[in-house]
Amino acid sequence: MIEIRNLRKSFGDHEVLQGVSLTVERGQVVCLIGPSGSGKSTVLRCINGLENYQGGDILAFGERVDAESDGIHHLRSRMGMVFQRFNLFGHRTVLENVMEGPVYVNRTPRAQARQVAMSLLEKVGLATRAQAYPAQLSGGQQQRVAIARALAMQPEAMLFDEPTSALDPELVGDVLDVMRDLANEGMTMIVVTHEMGFAREVADRVCFLHGGSIVEEGAADQVLGHPCHARTQDFLRRVL
Ligand code: ADP
Ligand code: MG
Repeated sequence: MIEIRNLRKSFGDHEVLQGVSLTVERGQVVCLIGPSGSGKSTVLRCINGLENYQGGDILAFGERVDAESDGIHHLRSRMGMVFQRFNLFGHRTVLENVMEGPVYVNRTPRAQARQVAMSLLEKVGLATRAQAYPAQLSGGQQQRVAIARALAMQPEAMLFDEPTSALDPELVGDVLDVMRDLANEGMTMIVVTHEMGFAREVADRVCFLHGGSIVEEGAADQVLGHPCHARTQDFLRRVL
């Protein structure tokens, strides 16, 4: 469903991705782990066409991802992205935030968009907060709204960039529960995370990125439980 071949990306003369290859099949959950600055966010942003790249290829749903192409908006709409910061519209209610994309981008009739939005808010456990404004919610609740908002566009894959890193520890679990449910329903997901318990339980594969390269990749139990490379071992010792 998503295939990255030998991806190279530079900012100026700093090559931050040095030949990254990654294949994600339909329904798979792949977790990207690695130290700060290793290139995890850049990989996601390239997949989503938010960044151009200098070498290699990215194919999503069989189409080449090209940030400058006319088709990029449509391609991007097929992938939902959830960031560390929730980026909700502060002056709109929770329900309006979730309805926004379908109504204004897809021209879905309001009544239908409302119905879909309510069922998604139900799914993330926030149906009773539909009329609240983002500032009235906890960070974890806001992040669950952000997930519902991404799902409202009916994406075929979801990209998560450290969705729980900005949350107070007691709020992390509810967000991971929503992500776990999504994975169990068969959503294709690429998740950048430092939540090793989640990765171990949910990921089909874990990729450890270091200095712009995938140093180690394999089944979650193998990479997290029995890492082969010294760099992976060192990283895991620090985060666990
Ligand atoms: P991670 O998400 O793993 O912390 P990033 O993908 O954000 O890493 O960053 C990888 C490298 O690229 C870092 O050295 C970072 O400083 C650099 N970088 C990221 N975005 C930009 C940018 N817009 N301009 C210049 N350098 C950037
Ligand atoms: Mg990052």
